[in-house]
Amino acid sequence: MKLLIVPVTPFMQNCSVLICEQTGQAAAIDPGGDLDRIEAALQGQGARLEKVFLTHGHIDHCGQSAEFARRHGVPLEGPHRDDKFWIDQLPAQGVKFGFARLEAFEPDRWLIEGDTVSFGAQTLEVRHCPGHTPGHVVFFHAPSRLAIVGDVLFQGSIGRTDFPRGDFDTLIRSITGRLWPLGDDVAFVPGHGPMSTFGEERQSNPFVGDDALRA
Ligand SMILES: [Zn+2]
Ligand SMILES: [Zn+2]
Repeated sequence: MKLLIVPVTPFMQNCSVLICEQTGQAAAIDPGGDLDRIEAALQGQGARLEKVFLTHGHIDHCGQSAEFARRHGVPLEGPHRDDKFWIDQLPAQGVKFGFARLEAFEPDRWLIEGDTVSFGAQTLEVRHCPGHTPGHVVFFHAPSRLAIVGDVLFQGSIGRTDFPRGDFDTLIRSITGRLWPLGDDVAFVPGHGPMSTFGEERQSNPFVGDDALRA
């Protein structure tokens, strides 16, 4: 499986394009905007979009995702249903942040802890990781030890928890209880900024590093 990261929207959100090298089929995770840039990434690889997956309901992650899925005639899966109140707010959020006109939508499938999603010959495991938003999910590709974590965890930081229905302790529990057990060697694509590994964050992250949690 091949990974391309396409930063989109004024928030520089990392849209992940995953390509199954056996089939040439692709999945886009969080195609929130700048759809032409995502199209170019797909075309550059000669890949055919098969699914759209969403980590959570924030505008930079899913603002234009329904339009993208419709353009390609593909299903949209995720996040967890608890983020419906965010998706319902997309039209208002679009006005607030000066985005093009945005639509609320109903994904073809809501996800829960333990689900799997698939495209091409690839399967991703779903981890429900509330705290930044209540319905936030993370996607894990076990064969390549890669996780797409949205705004749960960043290199050197964690997601904001000051939004409605955000909760700091819940976020810490999501990270330590549902991400760390996947293994220190797992590399992750955060919603913003550079990649890192769970092991590196356990060593040095000031919020969820092992030393920080002991203190
Ligand atoms: Zn977010
Ligand atoms: Zn974000």
